[in-house]
Amino acid sequence: MTIRIGIIGAGPSGLAQLRAFESALSRSKHDVELVCFEKRSNWGGLWNYSWRTGLDEHGEPVHGSMYRYLWSNGPKEALEFADYSFDQHFGRPIPSYPPRAVLFDYIQGRMERNNLRQYIRFNTVTRWVNFDENTQTFEVAVEDLSKQHTYTETFDYLVVATGHFSTPHVPYFKGLDTFPGAVMHAHDFRGADQFKGKDLLLVGGSYSAEDIGVQCYKHGARSVTISYRSAPLGFKWPQGIREVPLVTRFEGKTAHFQDGTHKNVDAVVLCTGYQHKYPFLPEELRLKSHNRLYPRGLYKGVVWKNNPRLFYLGMQDQYYTFNMFDAQAWYTRDIMLGHTALPDMAGMKADIQDWGRREDAVDNSCDAVDFQTAYVRDLMDRTDYPGFEAEQVAELLKQWLRDKQESILTYRDKPFRSVVTGTMAPVHHTAWIDELDDSLERFLDPHINQDNEVNATL
Ligand SMILES: Cc1cc2nc3c(=O)[nH]c(=O)nc-3n(C[C@H](O)[C@H](O)[C@H](O)COP(=O)(O)OP(=O)(O)OC[C@H]3O[C@@H](n4cnc5c(N)ncnc54)[C@H](O)[C@@H]3O)c2cc1C
Repeated sequence: MTIRIGIIGAGPSGLAQLRAFESALSRSKHDVELVCFEKRSNWGGLWNYSWRTGLDEHGEPVHGSMYRYLWSNGPKEALEFADYSFDQHFGRPIPSYPPRAVLFDYIQGRMERNNLRQYIRFNTVTRWVNFDENTQTFEVAVEDLSKQHTYTETFDYLVVATGHFSTPHVPYFKGLDTFPGAVMHAHDFRGADQFKGKDLLLVGGSYSAEDIGVQCYKHGARSVTISYRSAPLGFKWPQGIREVPLVTRFEGKTAHFQDGTHKNVDAVVLCTGYQHKYPFLPEELRLKSHNRLYPRGLYKGVVWKNNPRLFYLGMQDQYYTFNMFDAQAWYTRDIMLGHTALPDMAGMKADIQDWGRREDAVDNSCDAVDFQTAYVRDLMDRTDYPGFEAEQVAELLKQWLRDKQESILTYRDKPFRSVVTGTMAPVHHTAWIDELDDSLERFLDPHINQDNEVNATL
């Protein structure tokens, strides 16, 4: 019997699903046909940088939210693939906080090594999905954007791996429509260059505001003001970055805040989060969630309870990323191959409620790390994903949280030990705050020493 499996999206989650199947096909009793639809011309999802904003070359909404000078915002040891280490890919230990291009190279390396490009139809956007109750199959309508050709294919199982940091949530603030400078959402931010020497206002109190704020500070913004809704990020900011309560209105270039203070600013970046958006799914199959650790309706965070032939990968708020997507993908693979049985509806409901209660008890970032560690552990225990010590990753993530509290400008200079290989990362040749070149070549250059000089042996 041939099982047809459709995967939507070739970012880290969709690629994890391909890798999971590829690692098991030789011992599967079924023939499996895999088809992955990716609307962009290459894989890597958000890690595949695009300078574009708004619409892409085909007139589709741009998926990318990443920007130039983006460095990993957590230690690479927390996301390392258990079946493909950084040492294996780069041939030597590398520092713990690589820039985007280095992580893209790593993601790509595992796929190329396993020859997984063959399963992906690039430049192909999923337009609509219909589930046929009679045949218990999905009809998936896609458009080949290069040929402007629309066609439909049928699948026994469908995996949605389209990410959830792509469709911006854009609130309105009074006076924004007549603000005389640049206004954009973080989704359209492509790097700090244009804000050099400028007074910048960031609206938001989460990762985007934190990371865009320190990047703009590093690259020469005159001042960065971060305006939060509920709580300040609370880091020990350097002179030049400060936090204020929520903006209430703009008058010309003056932003007024809830505490009665005001500030003249040249540009505004709305770091106000993203929406879960699946326009290709009918309502009965569509996940409706905000960014949270345990989106409701998904058994084990991945199985659509109301139709267990449908899976969602990577839809959680993320402390763990690549290795969590792997654990999810190995688990969903085993369900699709019939290696793992699902409980009945009542059993799935009870399990979702149980995890939901555990999520409700999460009170702070350390709790959130523990929650997601337990979640990843639960998935790993159900599969043959090469085991890694998730509990050690949890310790590492808590150290990362402490490092950030200690210094938001130097936490990226710290080295960590790999839980996969046991290798200690070297300290990078240049402190993050001084490193303005985020290229892979410079990051990996073995001839630059820690005094930032090119070795005489060259
Ligand atoms: C600014 C930013 C910085 C981040 N920094 C880090 C970091 O430092 N470390 C970290 O671990 N994580 C980071 N993340 C988290 C990020 O979510 C994950 O690392 C990862 O990219 C998620 O992978 P994904 O495959 O689930 O989604 P994505 O990477 O978003 O990939 C989804 C893919 O689906 C495709 N797609 C979407 N819709 C369709 C459609 N209808 N048809 C066909 N294809 C479609 C897209 O083109 C894309 O290729 C960051 C996220 C953002 C936004």
